[in-house]
Amino acid sequence: MLRRTLLKFIYQHKHKNLVAYGQLLKQWEQFSLADSKQLQMKHLNELLLHAVEHVPYYKNLFSKNLWDKDGLINMDAFKQLPVLEKSSLNQSFEQLKSNGSDRQTWKHNATGGSTGEPARFMQDINYAEWNAATKMFYDGWTGYELGCKKVVIWGAERDIKGGLLKKFRQYLYNKMIINAYQLKSEEMLSYVRGLNRAKPTQVLGYASCLYDFARYIDQKKLTIYSPKAIMSSAEVLYPHMRELIERVFQAPVFNRYGSREMGDMACECTQHNGLHISMPTHYVEVIREDGKEALPGEMGHIVVTGLTNYAMPLIRYRTGDLGMWAENSCDCGCAWPLLQSIVGRAPDALSTAKGDRVHAYYFNQLFFVESEQIWIKKFQVVQEDYDQIYIYVTFHPEDKSTLADYAERTNAINVRIRKVMGEQCQISWVKVDEIPPAPSGKHCYVYSKVGVEALSA
Ligand SMILES: [Zn+2]
Repeated sequence: MLRRTLLKFIYQHKHKNLVAYGQLLKQWEQFSLADSKQLQMKHLNELLLHAVEHVPYYKNLFSKNLWDKDGLINMDAFKQLPVLEKSSLNQSFEQLKSNGSDRQTWKHNATGGSTGEPARFMQDINYAEWNAATKMFYDGWTGYELGCKKVVIWGAERDIKGGLLKKFRQYLYNKMIINAYQLKSEEMLSYVRGLNRAKPTQVLGYASCLYDFARYIDQKKLTIYSPKAIMSSAEVLYPHMRELIERVFQAPVFNRYGSREMGDMACECTQHNGLHISMPTHYVEVIREDGKEALPGEMGHIVVTGLTNYAMPLIRYRTGDLGMWAENSCDCGCAWPLLQSIVGRAPDALSTAKGDRVHAYYFNQLFFVESEQIWIKKFQVVQEDYDQIYIYVTFHPEDKSTLADYAERTNAINVRIRKVMGEQCQISWVKVDEIPPAPSGKHCYVYSKVGVEALSA
């Protein structure tokens, strides 16, 4: 009770915008499709007007015919705008930044992408608040409310360790966090016990980690508490994964779709007919190989315009994921269109001799997110044997680091890798001109030649 009262007080006073945005989303989900479209066009227009005024990249790109004589967006002209590629974020980083005066609220963020080349971008406080509000709003669909217990299987090493303040935050937000970067087999049993004690309303996690966790419980024939819902996020959820997770936890899985660049943009409702796009915050297109708009049921590239980040507006941004519009609508009362069958690349994981798994995202975090220096252009981590890792890197041509800088940074990364892979792990750095594809031909940024069923030990 005390916790909920305290939380409500904090949200009312410290996160006023977030609370207000959450309430707006609740109103907007009841809009008809026509009203939702109108609202979305209003938000898109506001973003485009900001972009043409304040963002050099778009100032050059937009022409007058993007608006009609009444000031409304000419959608045919909009759809002619070139698609913004992940690689352009770095190439045009400075031009894509707005010249707004609110820079103190901006945060740097980065994503590795499937080829190990980071895309860097800036996000403002308005985006962060909308994103948090969207998460809370989607949580509501699963039956979760602020202050309820949540178990999170997430790649958040920094959140797990830490002092009293972090412990207090976990208490306050009623979260138990399981480190998804490193699902250690010997710790798995304690996670299961912890979850059973916690009796969470919701379990949230990366699809692959939820799957690994469920697989462990299944193999060991353990009993697990059944939460109200499981929220799967950040990765592709394949049907076999959903089936196992639902069977083991005896709870429905809600699939949520988002990315670091765009935040959360789609989620399943209780009907599980597909993922409703959050129309007021995202304009989503599905585009076929030939550049035409995909019809429902036709696979295409997911191209998104984020409507809330004014620091660095990403307009018609190719997410790198494939997906299709659902052929049917949903009768849950929400008119927002449904995405179905999102196909991306499932990230790989490394394994230790003990059977621990180290998630590919861990390396992305080390190379690109925690290090703000732009020195590595692309990387690839290849595990040759349990205790032998090769790191292939290409450096940025404009990078002016000295050999001492490289030594310092690579040593720091080696320390972090040995922490999860073991002290005996040999790490070799190899400078290359091009990152070679994996044997399968895929451009994986992390892959292992150690073929083990990691969690069966
Ligand atoms: Zn629905």
